[in-house]
Amino acid sequence: MAIASINPTTGEEFARFDALDDAEIETRIAAAHTAAQHYRLTGFDERARGLRAAADILDAESDTLAATMTAEMGKTLTAAKAEIAKCARGLRYYADHAADLLADEPADAGAVNASKAFHRYQPLGVILAVMPWNFPLWQVIRFAAPALMAGNVGLLKHASNVPQTALYLGDLFRRAGLPDNVFQTLLVSSSQIESILEDPSVAAATLTGSEGAGRSVGGIAGGALKKVVLELGGSDPFIVMPSADIARAASVATTARVQNNGQSCIAAKRFIIHDDVYDEFLDAFVAEMGAQKLGDPTDPDTDIGPLATEQGRTDVTELVDDAVSHGAKVALGGHVPGGPGWFYPATVLTDITPEMDIYGAEVFGPVAAVYRVSSLDEAITLANDTSFGLGSNIWTTDEAEADTAIRDIAAGQVFVNGMTTSYPELAFGGVKDSGHGRELTRHGIAEFCNVKTVWIA
Ligand code: NDP
Repeated sequence: MAIASINPTTGEEFARFDALDDAEIETRIAAAHTAAQHYRLTGFDERARGLRAAADILDAESDTLAATMTAEMGKTLTAAKAEIAKCARGLRYYADHAADLLADEPADAGAVNASKAFHRYQPLGVILAVMPWNFPLWQVIRFAAPALMAGNVGLLKHASNVPQTALYLGDLFRRAGLPDNVFQTLLVSSSQIESILEDPSVAAATLTGSEGAGRSVGGIAGGALKKVVLELGGSDPFIVMPSADIARAASVATTARVQNNGQSCIAAKRFIIHDDVYDEFLDAFVAEMGAQKLGDPTDPDTDIGPLATEQGRTDVTELVDDAVSHGAKVALGGHVPGGPGWFYPATVLTDITPEMDIYGAEVFGPVAAVYRVSSLDEAITLANDTSFGLGSNIWTTDEAEADTAIRDIAAGQVFVNGMTTSYPELAFGGVKDSGHGRELTRHGIAEFCNVKTVWIA
């Protein structure tokens, strides 16, 4: 895959970059390793100053950075600016809280003659981050803010279709005053990841992206006996029970499905609706989805811009066409519009059956699959009938129903009367083929730490 910026609104390439060669990669890894030796000895205050300065830079440059993100991957300008603001908040949050999150933890020293014991969190060293294009800033900052505060050093291999956003990130922390080479962008192809991760100077890896990419990087890390965090795809259920506020559920369901032009791992993708409110929900949902304006992502009135890549639109089109050819009904959308750009409209399908590809796939576009069930048990069984287990949503005002869903849905997150979202104060991650490990909070910041046990006689 070429490392190039191609505007999804027009299909036109506007920048192209060469991948680093092996010698350049070796030099960069060596520089990261050297930086790690010094950076691990810095204090939280110094690291926090850098993160706060990076947040200030993001705030100041929001307009131009958002324009780059939109031009490279098609998210609306409004969404790009909101993402930048969230990143600034995330940087400040970890600047403020890392010292507490990573404070020594007193432990029981056990033996009578021991004076004390505790656990200390120390950085692992150089961490390789393989990141996707869909939230080209937030996915990276979600890793970088906690990892840098813990004293780790980052090497970013970003998705090949967002190289300018990647280069911006590679410069951000240096401009913010953190030591040179503490965070670098490597413009490399995915085939170059193996040798980078196997380099003895690289301690661990994190990947956000598809199941295939996760299996590949997870396998390399396993072979090299290195820690890896995997945040992979999702096909999140959105269960609506009779006691729910149906109008509100339909409105939030729409946002949950079309956010980021339908390209979010935690987007609700399977809408599982109780029989008693199925018709009412479907009518309201189709009306809300139908009101979503598809178009130029730089227009503030646009709700849904183009999909990020031509291949992405082909994948979505094939899933919808396969479903329809096997008997799914199209309640809304379902056709590729004419004209340039990789647009796909808000689409609602019903009558989905397990033999259709869409039943088990992650649909990365604004396509909703609506299912009818007659009980909570049936809803949860259907919700769990997937290889994924990332986020999940249940709408009910019945506490017992909510408790059952919290207990029984096999997912990393359950949101009750809301939509799954990712922000600095909440742990993020999945189970099953959605990956393992956690990002954010004390759980995420500890992933790339050596939890050192100290016992003193
Ligand atoms: P990928 O998973 O292919 O890309 C994510 C990152 O992984 C990129 O940096 C990519 O590099 C890298 N990568 C890709 N293949 C490998 C590999 N075999 N070994 C190591 N690294 C690899 O996402 P796509 O853009 O291809 O999207 C395909 C599907 O993935 C989507 O339709 C969606 O279902 C899912 N996806 C999920 C995301 C999530 O947030 N969970 C995010 C993005 C995609 P490069 O760009 O150079 O190939």
